[in-house]
Amino acid sequence: MSLNATFCPHCGEDVPESNESFCGECGASLSALMPDTACPNCAEPIQDTDIYCRHCRYFVSMNC
Ligand SMILES: [Zn+2]
Ligand SMILES: [Zn+2]
Repeated sequence: MSLNATFCPHCGEDVPESNESFCGECGASLSALMPDTACPNCAEPIQDTDIYCRHCRYFVSMNC
């Protein structure tokens, strides 16, 4: 099971190279280094810095 995203969990941009470690748009890490929360939509582990779920692209911004 790979945690590599096909889109950026920070800015939501598509990342064509799924083996890239960082988003080409905003430089955010595409690897879930320390998943510490769960997506409310798909329950997959995400980081609290993620704005979009890396698994289902659900908007999960916790910065409210
Ligand atoms: Zn990005
Ligand atoms: Zn999700």
